[in-house]
Amino acid sequence: MKSVVIDTPGQVRVETLPDPALPGPDGAVIEVRSAAICGSDLHFYEGDYPLGEPVALGHEAVGTIVEIGPDVRTFAIGDDVLVSSVAGCGSCAGCETRDPVTCVGGPRIFGAGALGGAQSELLAVPAADFQLMRLPHDIDTEEALLLTDNLATGWAGAQRADFPPGGTIVVLGLGAVGLCAVLSALTLGAGTVFAVDPVEGRRLRAERLGATPLEPPATGSAGGNRRTWRGRRHRRCRQ
Ligand SMILES: [Zn+2]
Ligand SMILES: [Zn+2]
Repeated sequence: MKSVVIDTPGQVRVETLPDPALPGPDGAVIEVRSAAICGSDLHFYEGDYPLGEPVALGHEAVGTIVEIGPDVRTFAIGDDVLVSSVAGCGSCAGCETRDPVTCVGGPRIFGAGALGGAQSELLAVPAADFQLMRLPHDIDTEEALLLTDNLATGWAGAQRADFPPGGTIVVLGLGAVGLCAVLSALTLGAGTVFAVDPVEGRRLRAERLGATPLEPPATGSAGGNRRTWRGRRHRRCRQ
């Protein structure tokens, strides 16, 4: 199969790798129809994480089950599914909460070395009953892809902010997750969402969603450029 691989910071290439085997009787193999690039991939690209051996990148995938283990109860070959970016064992007390991040054995992430990468033609998924979600009929592939990581992460961030109705929220960084956090905060009833990013195009996107854009202080000085912060007009969001 073809797979997107990185073995040196700054160098990503498409490589032919062996097709993945079924990862145990409770696992499945997915033919990936759509995958995404995540900010997390940049940790490898920018050299933040050591690269001992080539890593197949990607942890967001939507696809079709092409192989399935005998212990999988709720899915069948041919099912269209979303793959959660974070994997848990599916059977411990932590996974019983349905949050793989709390897996007692330690959560694993696709596309980080221990599991296959989602930017591949095929992806082996352990604990398929726990890890997969059937693709809802009323959303398309691109929308579904957002649910595998970016929107779920933005939503979780906004929820954890635990703000009162009409409260004020600041979102620092307006990549895909940040923009999803802006939208989530507004949906959850925030009154004002300050959206901070050095990239103007990102701030404009956040403003279109209903946030109040802010340019971050210039780096390099201890106090930052305070005039940048004070000089902005505070607007109520449209929602
Ligand atoms: Zn991600
Ligand atoms: Zn677990």
